Amino acid sequence: MRNFPYKFRPYQREMVRSVEDALKNGKHIIMEAPTGIGKTIAVLAPSIEFALDNDMRVLYLTRTNSQQEQVIKEAKQLEKYYKFKTVPVMGRKTYCLYLKETKIIDITNEELTEMCKKLKIGNEKSGICRYYLNFQNYEYDIMKRFDSPVTFDELIDISKEYDACPYEVMKSLSSQSHLIVMPYIYYFNDFINEIIVGWTKIDLSKTIIIIDEAHNLPDFARELRSERLTMKTITMAEREIKSHGSDSLNNLNLIDFMAYLREVLNDLTKDVSEDKRLDKNEFLGIIEKYLHNMDIFDVIHLMDRYAEELKLLKLANGEIPRSYVGRIGKFLEKMLTEDKKDIFYIVGKDIGSYIEIFAVDPRPITSKIEKAYSSIHISGTLNPINDYVSTVFTSVKPEEKQFPSPFPSENLKVYYVKDVTTKYEEILINEKLLEKMADYISKIIDLKHNTLVLFPSYRIMDKIMEFDMQYSGYFYREKQNMSQTEFNDMITKFRRYGGTIFASFGGRISEGMDFPNGQIEITVIAGIPYPKPTERMKIMEEYYEREFDKNKVFDILYKSPAIRKMRQALGRMIRSEKDRGIGYILDKRAKSFSKYIKMSESKNIEEEVKNFFEVKI
Ligand code: SF4
Repeated sequence: MRNFPYKFRPYQREMVRSVEDALKNGKHIIMEAPTGIGKTIAVLAPSIEFALDNDMRVLYLTRTNSQQEQVIKEAKQLEKYYKFKTVPVMGRKTYCLYLKETKIIDITNEELTEMCKKLKIGNEKSGICRYYLNFQNYEYDIMKRFDSPVTFDELIDISKEYDACPYEVMKSLSSQSHLIVMPYIYYFNDFINEIIVGWTKIDLSKTIIIIDEAHNLPDFARELRSERLTMKTITMAEREIKSHGSDSLNNLNLIDFMAYLREVLNDLTKDVSEDKRLDKNEFLGIIEKYLHNMDIFDVIHLMDRYAEELKLLKLANGEIPRSYVGRIGKFLEKMLTEDKKDIFYIVGKDIGSYIEIFAVDPRPITSKIEKAYSSIHISGTLNPINDYVSTVFTSVKPEEKQFPSPFPSENLKVYYVKDVTTKYEEILINEKLLEKMADYISKIIDLKHNTLVLFPSYRIMDKIMEFDMQYSGYFYREKQNMSQTEFNDMITKFRRYGGTIFASFGGRISEGMDFPNGQIEITVIAGIPYPKPTERMKIMEEYYEREFDKNKVFDILYKSPAIRKMRQALGRMIRSEKDRGIGYILDKRAKSFSKYIKMSESKNIEEEVKNFFEVKI
């Protein structure tokens, strides 16, 4: 590597070399690199250099928009060495100046696409979008302004100078950019991908794909392939028909059909507390019975026609082109035509009742990366990497690399306690186990360090809180249905005054918040956070047992996610070389994770904590 913009941090040079080797050999590589190594630049710098030397391009896929900005910021560090362009690809909604001007907020991407299409042609009422016209008039001048990496804000500012559409500017810039930074969905969603390939002129055989926070990829891909019909959509469809009029075919009236669907969904979910498997044929049988001798495809066609007419009418009136009837029609059509072996059907209750077309296997989506010249997957918590590989790849065997934390290992000490557990079968017959767990937690809280206690579920948290516990000092509790304001308020107070906070794995705290600089000094994991054995999980087990090595199913579906959650939770305390923290895993099953989390058996909590914090580093 010729150029690197910073002084190398520990293990960063090794990481750069691993990327270079993979690129030289056109390989795919999976890398686990903990916080502090500086993984973004370690991957970006050699990739940009290789791409520019070999007439290739880099596609950097992120999970969120804010991560995109971080990547562009790092790319800017390289502009002193190379002449290259970047583009932050984001949705029309984020870039559209017309939306900002008209203050429309409640609009889906699909609806905005339709609206924009119409506004580019214009009609008597709305005319042509002036931002689009200005883009067309000044495209040449605007493009001349982009000769080095730009952030989202810079792209918007330049577009505004010409009163031009930033979305069109971004599209045009992406065809010339050497580094394209975009969220996962733009690459993995077939429909969007086709459009993106059109603008960017990407040739996969000459593209290096970087996947950031790669541990999210399998679940992201599952969600992308799955689809839900919710009670809310049915209610909105009924409202839509009431205000815009119904339509009918033979004896079937759309409004009655919606009411029937509501009844069916109510019936299907009445005894369900979480989720239940749905027999697709049984469900379609119920629908067909209602339709008598009518063909269900004719009814779907009726719904589709209704939706198209309504959307045109709404567009002409300057309204959002939305139809809930259309959404339901599309869902039924997908249900009827989908016949892949990993597709299952679930009914359940979340915020409301739903039917879901559940796609178990992420690989039809994730394996698209195999077509790239090379792909680089990075994350702070990917281990066990081979489980990730078997969930994501189909025909390629990628390289695997793991780097240690650059921070002093003595700054994080983890203990496990071996006489308690939250294992369902055990607490069912021995309630004392949870009482003992409550005692341990009280003892730790009483040591008066800033403490985060994470429970595998809100249910376990509630059960443990039924026991008499010590809550000395400030105490906070994350609740399942807390509003964002309540939650923010709680976090602000905790960060300011410290104390103890109770939260659940899967809640907002464990999902992605950092608490460095001693904001959390002790993390207690009150039970191994295995995924709940819901019907959804049972379906996945069945499928994976058919498709994978039977002996690996538990590891892939239960053990790996639990390891990742625990490592993430413990890692939240340590975000710099000065941070120190101690972790307690209150569960006798913890020992089986010691290959992935370095830990010792706890003998005397009070002493251990005292000794740990007495040592000044
Ligand atoms: S052309 Fe641009 S500004 Fe106009 S509606 Fe479409 S996205 Fe919005």
